[in-house]
Amino acid sequence: MAEFQLIEWLRSQQSNKGQGVTLGIGDDGAVLRISPNQELVISTDTLNEGVHFDKSIAADDLGYKALAVNLSDLAAMGASPAWALLSLSMPFEDRAWFEAFSSGFLNLASEHGVSLVGGDTCGGGLSIGVTVLGTVNTGHAITRSGAHSGDLVVVSGTLGDAALAFSRLQALESPAPTSFNALYRPVPRVALGQSLVGKASSCIDISDGLLADLGHIADASNCGAKIEIARLPVSRELSACNRPERSRLQLSGGEDYELCFSISPGKRDVLDKLEKELNIQLTVIGEITPGSGVECIDHDGCVMKQPPRGFEHFK
Ligand code: ADP
Ligand code: MG
Repeated sequence: MAEFQLIEWLRSQQSNKGQGVTLGIGDDGAVLRISPNQELVISTDTLNEGVHFDKSIAADDLGYKALAVNLSDLAAMGASPAWALLSLSMPFEDRAWFEAFSSGFLNLASEHGVSLVGGDTCGGGLSIGVTVLGTVNTGHAITRSGAHSGDLVVVSGTLGDAALAFSRLQALESPAPTSFNALYRPVPRVALGQSLVGKASSCIDISDGLLADLGHIADASNCGAKIEIARLPVSRELSACNRPERSRLQLSGGEDYELCFSISPGKRDVLDKLEKELNIQLTVIGEITPGSGVECIDHDGCVMKQPPRGFEHFK
């Protein structure tokens, strides 16, 4: 079974949701009721050497990224991050590496007012598990399931840059700073996520590639989506690539950690306001449709027959 089938099987093994569980398995974070007014949003992600990174990554970049990818899930839920736990498995004790790793992690934590409140340290293959906890006012978490037909589909930032850096590194070339930072220093869109509360109808962070992640919104919302490749935001560096390569990276390159959300066309002015307030690029790339799945319109105005797939473990 591939990753999402395994998760679905696990989900099917629990007969009820459980006490205080507003939202369990299936979104960027779980939503748990902790008081009448507040809910806890909790999410966890693991980075393994050889799967998510290789030895060439600098220790402070790895510490930064381990927390950033987790904060990105809280951002997608519209939560305010507050606490983190860090489980670190390392092959041997290397004090300099450990301090550099921790400084990358803790500097980002303090930028977001996050306290490291626990974790685990042990010997083994290099693997980093992070759990983050944040809060939302009750009923205000943004989920994957609230999109409606006719809503606009919007993404933040530019797409495909992390995947471009990854492919350059694989070809033993040096990525330019934009894509290098996209891969190793992704900016979790925390302020944007919080600003979208009460405005966006659904949201997800793009970790597995735009098509895969927008597909999760479509599935969870029982609708479809239609996007146009010509509208996808592109960095200057990626625009220098040939068209097929650029489209492939934008549609299926993982690790963008931008937000993809839906919003009613009546709230379009919110986008201009947020762009200015947060100094962030927001691009309407298509719309939510009554059908199912994600349809991709290519540069010639035709529906792409075999759009590239997103990343999935065990596939
Ligand atoms: P994301 O890409 O946002 O981190 P994933 O695709 O990893 O989300 O996971 C999808 C959903 O499945 C999430 O709600 C996650 O918490 C849940 N999930 C993944 N693995 C497990 C597991 N082993 N046990 C329980 N829930 C899981
Ligand atoms: Mg996510």
